[in-house]
Amino acid sequence: MGEFDLIQRYFTRPTPRAVLGVGDDCALLQPAPGMQLAISSDMLVEGRHFLSTVDPAALGHKALAVNLSDLAACGAQPRAFTLALALPRADAAWLAPFSQGLLALADLHGCELVGGDTTQGPLNICITVFGEVPPGQALLRSGAQVGDDLYVSGTLGDARLALEVFRGTQSLPEAAFVQARARLERPTPRVALGLALRGVATAAADVSDGLLGDLGHILRASHVAAVVDTSVAMQLIATCAHPSYANGLFDAEKQLAYVLAGGDDYELVFTAPPMARAAVQAASAAAHTPVTRIGQIEAPRTTAAVRLVDADGAPVQRQFAGFDHFA
Ligand code: ADP
Ligand code: MG
Repeated sequence: MGEFDLIQRYFTRPTPRAVLGVGDDCALLQPAPGMQLAISSDMLVEGRHFLSTVDPAALGHKALAVNLSDLAACGAQPRAFTLALALPRADAAWLAPFSQGLLALADLHGCELVGGDTTQGPLNICITVFGEVPPGQALLRSGAQVGDDLYVSGTLGDARLALEVFRGTQSLPEAAFVQARARLERPTPRVALGLALRGVATAAADVSDGLLGDLGHILRASHVAAVVDTSVAMQLIATCAHPSYANGLFDAEKQLAYVLAGGDDYELVFTAPPMARAAVQAASAAAHTPVTRIGQIEAPRTTAAVRLVDADGAPVQRQFAGFDHFA
C-alpha cells in the first residue's frame, strides 16, 4: 500500500460542509458569515503520550478528543480538522482501527477531516482543529473575576489512576480498572458544555495537565488567586464510587494528588459569578455534563495563587506540580 492508497483508503471521506476536502494542495473552508475561527493543534508522541501497546482505535479517538477539548474550552463549535501522521509502516491492521476510532468521534461532532500529511517515521500524530465562535464570545483564560465561583466538569483523577496501574504502582480490581482505563484511553471532550457556557462562564480552560496546573493558567491570565475545597474535589475521582472501591484501594493522599494534579482528564475548569449559578446548572443540564463547584476566585496575593482548604476551611498543606514536558 503506497502513500496515496493509504490516504485514499483510510483518510478520505465525503466532506459535505467543507468547500474542498482531501485531495488538492489545500482544503477550503467557508466559515459561517461573521464567525471567528478557533484553531488549536495537539501532538501525540509514542512513548510520551501513549504506550506502543495501546489499542489503535482508542488512540485515534484520543488524538482527536484532546484537540476537541481545546475547542470546548474556548466555547467553539468544531467544524474541521487536519491530520499530520508519521507512521513506521503502512500497516492495515493498525490503520483500519485507528481511522475508525478517529472518524467515529469526528462524525459525532460533525468535524470533517479535510487534509493532512503522511510520512514514514516514528509514530507521531498531530491534529489541528478548526472551530467557529461568534465574535467576542470565545471563552478565554483571562476573564476570571474576584468573587467568581470555581467549577470543574465531570470527574478527575481516574486517567492518572489507570496510568499508575499500567506503571505497576497501583492495583485495582478488573471492573474498576476497566472504568478508569476508559477515562485514560477514551476521554470525552466537553464540547456541548463549552458551547452552553458561552455568555455564562467568565473564564475557562481544559484540564489536560492536572487541575491545579490548568487552573494556574486561568489565575495568571486573569491576575487573581483561588481557594479550592479539597473535601469536595477529592470526591471527583469516579473510581472511588465504584462498588469494588468500598474497602479502600489507595490512600487519601494519592486520591487527592490524582484529582488535583493527575493529568489527562480533558474536563473543563471554569469560573462564573455567584449570580450565574442557575445559568451554570442550566448549561450543565443542557450539555448532559455534571459540574461541581470546588472553590472561589480571590484577590491576587504574593503567596501561592491556589489556597487548598478542608471542609472546615482550614488550610491543607500540599505541593503539587502540573505536568511540564521540560521541567
Ligand atoms: P502535498 O504534496 O501538497 O503536501 P500530499 O501529497 O502530502 O500533498 O497530500 C495529498 C492530499 O492528501 C492533500 O490534500 C492532503 O491534505 C491529504 N492528506 C495527506 N495526508 C493526510 C492524512 N493523514 N489525513 C488526511 N488527509 C491527508
Ligand atoms: Mg504533503
